[in-house]
Amino acid sequence: MNKTLSAIIAGGGLGGLAAATALAQRGWDVTVYERQSALRASGSGIYIWENGLRVLEALGAYDDAVRDAFEGVAFEQRDKHGAVIDSAPVGAERRLITVKRSQLLDSLRDAALRAGVKVVTSSEVIGATPRGELRFANGDLVRADLAIGVDGIWSRVREALGLETFHQQTVEGALRTVIERRPGDIAAADAGKYIENWNGNRRFLVTPINETQIYLALTCPESDRAARDTRIDKALWSEAFAQWAHLIDRIGPEVSWGVYSIIQCSAWSAGRTAILGDAAHAQPPNLGQGGGMAMQNGLALACALEGVERAEQIPAALEAWEARERPLVDHCQKWSTLYGEVAFLPDEVRSATVRAAMSNPWVIEQINRAAHHRPTGTRERRAMPASVA
Ligand SMILES: Cc1cc2nc3c(=O)[nH]c(=O)nc-3n(C[C@H](O)[C@H](O)[C@H](O)COP(=O)(O)OP(=O)(O)OC[C@H]3O[C@@H](n4cnc5c(N)ncnc54)[C@H](O)[C@@H]3O)c2cc1C
Repeated sequence: MNKTLSAIIAGGGLGGLAAATALAQRGWDVTVYERQSALRASGSGIYIWENGLRVLEALGAYDDAVRDAFEGVAFEQRDKHGAVIDSAPVGAERRLITVKRSQLLDSLRDAALRAGVKVVTSSEVIGATPRGELRFANGDLVRADLAIGVDGIWSRVREALGLETFHQQTVEGALRTVIERRPGDIAAADAGKYIENWNGNRRFLVTPINETQIYLALTCPESDRAARDTRIDKALWSEAFAQWAHLIDRIGPEVSWGVYSIIQCSAWSAGRTAILGDAAHAQPPNLGQGGGMAMQNGLALACALEGVERAEQIPAALEAWEARERPLVDHCQKWSTLYGEVAFLPDEVRSATVRAAMSNPWVIEQINRAAHHRPTGTRERRAMPASVA
């Protein structure tokens, strides 16, 4: 690249920081604008699979991201009697680690700063144009060779560019929290496992994130008012998951609730402005891939721009980036949406379906086809919450 090209990025989350670092490492002059007063992640845990780990390695964030993190050996689903529905090994070839979100974000922030990325906080983007411009709540307009909206589910950049074609929110949601981990919490035979427990429409996911903490996700339909209360009804959840009552009893007041979004767009760019991460392709968290996909797509975007020397070449490079990356992202979104449907099956049907799907290629093919149809566990988009409006 002869002239230093400039990029401005709305959103300092996983995808924004990954894209920023990857661009800066390739010689771009990069500024990230973040709405919050600091780069901040919520306190719960996150699953990072092989693809995300490779991105962290490429960005130089891996060592910090995985320090003391939990590295699992198997992901197991269990029915309401505690019987194993399916157990899938993870490990050397298909690595999976779980870590506190704040640790992951901090590792990406530090990698971005090392690469020379400038970060401007308390800076809210409210619009964009295809000319590489971002508009700000304070009235400013900033222009660069490239603008990127990585501003999450309610992306103002996506909205301004008119790219959204599909935005639904699931009728299932999750309560998330982190509790203290104590010796004996998890039986010796289960050491190294991530354990997803089902009982009716309720699910209790046990995820160690380091030696001292366990991330808990308690999922249920939004209509299940008793179960979804952030003041956890411990008796109710302990009755459903008696073998985990000792963990449920330890849940404190720091609990968040949220449903999930599914977002699709007509294109991931307009002119010299792109969108990525949840802004472009949010998916339910059933495969633990939304963050991995955001980081992967951020790195892929920077790679796709490697041969670009002038601003006029950027739109075509962005189109090539989308053409290359979108099939995988769409595939992942489709499967994570489909897995959400098992929450609405009766227990015995769920167990049989999961076993069949995991062992029978014909069933996988049929599910793959069925996944092209609109999922039943979703509903139309709701209005943007006042807190982010
Ligand atoms: C319950 C749940 C569990 C999940 N578990 C996993 C998991 O285990 N593994 C996984 O890979 N993914 C998981 N995900 C998905 C993952 O959290 C997201 O896909 C990921 O955070 C997307 O990253 P992003 O950078 O696109 O968006 P975000 O992380 O949402 O970051 C967006 C950033 O932009 C900022 N911003 C927003 N609006 C503006 C604006 N107007 N101006 C400036 N800045 C703005 C925000 O403050 C934020 O910092 C989960 C999601 C949910 C809901």
